[in-house]
Amino acid sequence: MTISVGLNCPACGGAIQVTEGDNVLNCGYCGSLLWVEGDTGVLTVAYRNMQDRDGVLRATERWWKKGFKARNLGQRGNLRECYPIYLPFWSTTTRVAGWICGYEERHYTDRNGNTRTERVPKEEMVLRDYRYTGIACDPGDLGIKYLRNTAGEASFADFESIPTFESTTSKDDMIESSKQSALHDAHRDADVPHVTFEKVTVIPKNIAQIYYPVWVVRYAYGERMYMVTVDGVTGEILSGRAPGDPLYQSLAVTGGTSVGGLIAAAGLVLGAAAEEPYFIIGGLFIGVVILGFTYLFFRHGSEIIEGDFKDKRATSPMDWIRSNLGGLRI
Ligand SMILES: [Zn+2]
Repeated sequence: MTISVGLNCPACGGAIQVTEGDNVLNCGYCGSLLWVEGDTGVLTVAYRNMQDRDGVLRATERWWKKGFKARNLGQRGNLRECYPIYLPFWSTTTRVAGWICGYEERHYTDRNGNTRTERVPKEEMVLRDYRYTGIACDPGDLGIKYLRNTAGEASFADFESIPTFESTTSKDDMIESSKQSALHDAHRDADVPHVTFEKVTVIPKNIAQIYYPVWVVRYAYGERMYMVTVDGVTGEILSGRAPGDPLYQSLAVTGGTSVGGLIAAAGLVLGAAAEEPYFIIGGLFIGVVILGFTYLFFRHGSEIIEGDFKDKRATSPMDWIRSNLGGLRI
């Protein structure tokens, strides 16, 4: 018996026919070898590792030279470990369909300085598929939460030789957070500032599992250990931690505090002279923003962090969801 219950190839998106009892099959469209996970019926694909140890170490050394990292990393960075792993990810497609209605406010000012507000009605039809990926296990300290690349050669050939992390997070949680993200993204795309009415259906279309090769590099600098992860398909840096450079850090702190202070002071002086409160407020605001950035840079300046780490704080619950779930537009 052939069943086709909304299963799509994780590699190419083509509809998949599964014969009952079979758990290994080839995609009829792209030929990828797929595997159907037990009784849950989740299609699973693995990508072939395209990188080797030397290439990964060279990518790490190139990364060391970029940005505000310690300038002597090349000499003092001491490579300790370099190995590939397979990380499991969920990949979902969620359809949002319906209408979002409301209005947009436009403000007009005439010659006499009178302002008038006009409400422009908006009716937006929403019909779109959103694709998300999210890691399906605890990534520990790797700084990886979602998959940016979903193109690669599908193959289970390396499965024997590369350690594989088991999938531990729930499929239902992933579907639920995908629905929330899709609804949020659909609102963003519809762009109706004041919503008065909406009728929107969010339909999970499919969920698949992707095993993705990632290289982990651990290195020491002085007394401390740092890490880098490299995409096993594209060879790009996925995440990493590195010591910052003390010179850049002190320059940034000195520069940031002086510029921030000067702008705030200039706002006060100019604002008082011109009797223009906006100058004071604007100057103080810009000054405080620059001081804030200086503080953030100083706080993280001793360490350069790239990737999806917890200590890169999100500012709103929606940002949190989004930072825990990668969005790919299709
Ligand atoms: Zn396919």
